[in-house]
Formats: sequence, C-alpha cells, structure tokens
Amino acid sequence: MSLLVVGSVALDDVEAPGGKVEGVLGGAACYFSVAASYLTKVAAVGVVGDDFPTEHLEFLASRGIDISGIYTAAGSTFRWGGRYHESMNDRDTLFTDLGVFETFNPDLPDSHRDPRYVFLANIHPSIQRRVLEQTRAPQFSAMDTMNFWIEGTNDELRQTLSQVNGLVINDEEARQLTEENNLVSAAHAIRDLGPHTVIIKRGEHGALLFDEHGIFSAPAFPLRHVKDPTGAGDSFAGGFMGAIAKHDQVTPEVLRSAVISGSVMASFCVEDFSLDRFRSLRADEVDERFEAFRKLTRF
Ligand code: AMP
Repeated sequence: MSLLVVGSVALDDVEAPGGKVEGVLGGAACYFSVAASYLTKVAAVGVVGDDFPTEHLEFLASRGIDISGIYTAAGSTFRWGGRYHESMNDRDTLFTDLGVFETFNPDLPDSHRDPRYVFLANIHPSIQRRVLEQTRAPQFSAMDTMNFWIEGTNDELRQTLSQVNGLVINDEEARQLTEENNLVSAAHAIRDLGPHTVIIKRGEHGALLFDEHGIFSAPAFPLRHVKDPTGAGDSFAGGFMGAIAKHDQVTPEVLRSAVISGSVMASFCVEDFSLDRFRSLRADEVDERFEAFRKLTRF
C-alpha cells in the first residue's frame, strides 16, 4: 500500500456568502483521499453511521480509493456545520455531532499495516498515535491537529508529535501550539517537538514549508470565485502526501514540489461546495494548474 489516511468521514452543513448546503459529503479523510487520488493509490480509514448514503462511498471508490477500511457502525454519521463570514477567511462552527465518531478507535486490517506513507488527519492525538503504532515503519508520516486538541489534550498531542515526521497545521494553530507569535519561530519550536518537516497553511496567503534545508513559500492560487473553503486544508494535505507517494522519495525537491501539488488540490476544492469540484475534475486540469503555479512563481 502506498498512502494511508485516517480521519473523519462526515456529513456537513455549510453556509457561505454564495449559498448553503445541508448533509453533504465532508470529512478530512474524504477531502484528503479524493485529492490524493489524483496522484497516487490511497486507502482511507474511518467510520460512518448506518445513515450514510452509499452513493458517497461509491464516489470515493470511483476515484480508485481503497475504502475497505471505512466501516459502518450502528448510529449516526459524524455531522459538522460551519458558517463563513463575508471575507471567507473566518468561519464559525455551528455544531459538531460526533455520532459514531465518538468511539472511533480503529484496529487497522492487516492489509493496511504496511503503508509507505501515512497521514493522521485531525482526530484525538492518542488515536492518531495508536494508528501510527499499528503501521510498520512507514517511509514518511505526517499529521494535522486543531485548537481543540491543543487546548484539551496537549500532553497527548506532544507525545504524538514526537513520533511523526511531518506536521501540517494552520497559522493560528501553530501560534497556539508554540505560544510563538512569529511563524518562523513557531515552526522552529514545532521542529523541536519532533517533526523534521513543518508546513504552516495560511489560507488565501498560501503555505510555508520548513525543514532542515530552510524555508519554502508557496502562494495560494489566486482565484476570482471561492465558493466554499471547507476541506481546503485536508485537500492540501492530500495533494502534498499524494505527491510524495507518487515520487516515492522524501527529498527537499520532492517536498517542495509536493507543497505546490497541495496548493493545486486546495485551489480546486474551494471552487465548489463539498467535494463537488472533484466530481468533474480531470487529471489534465490538475496538470495545467500545476504549470500555472510554475508561471505564477517564476521570476
Ligand atoms: P477544514 O476546512 O480543512 O478544516 O476541514 C473541514 C472538514 O473537517 C469538514 O468536512 C468537517 O466535517 C471536518 N471536521 C470538522 N470538525 C472536525 C473535528 N472536530 N474532527 C474531525 N473532523 C472535523
């Protein structure tokens, strides 16, 4: 197996200045795996309730994603609701109904224990660590986290961080985790906690990669119309990890090009609600936007 992701599979309600959707496909594992599927073979691990529409699983499978690690439990699927402000930079969480996600603590099937690359999406840090410990020496492992875990489970989070190779985190969370206001200082402080590669996502301002070779900065693709930023971070992570898995190397060059692939996938994600943009997105459009990034950043 090339790439494994563990994370939420959700039904989302989203309100944005351009519209409103209810009960649509969401969840970090879905955004991640669909974005990564343009670059590599990916397997998703998660849980859904018995109310989860099978058409969503069919969509994931149609992208070539191995969904055998997404199991169904009796109860309701994880549901999340968010509302974006006019600027689209800020959002309010309207509700988080954990449902079957509350007791999610997967035992990886044997077929999933040997991935070369692992991504631990935003879940309880102890569960992230337990999943990582079930895998056999992946080539590169990375994780995400959020304010909720930074505030509530800081010790567990630090323990998990000490075991992964990479952290993909947004700017506010990086500041909160390290109590450093300056992002360069924050990234250094995170590297001291364990991960040798740190990516700080800055929404519409792009992303910064920090590793032992220095700093790499990628812009976000300038788009005229952004419909729904939900899942942009997870799509970024999917593009990033997918590109590393595709090259099957973790060199400074691959990591930098993977940041661009992450930015490409995030830029498509925000063009429509839910995962809808990916339903029609073609591989040649992905290649075209990667080239557009080259043009955007070359001088
Ligand atoms: P992002 O916009 O990258 O933060 O990702 C939003 C996605 O994460 C939505 O599809 C939600 O269903 C999912 N999500 C929101 N809150 C959580 C949470 N506490 N744990 C796991 N997934 C979540």
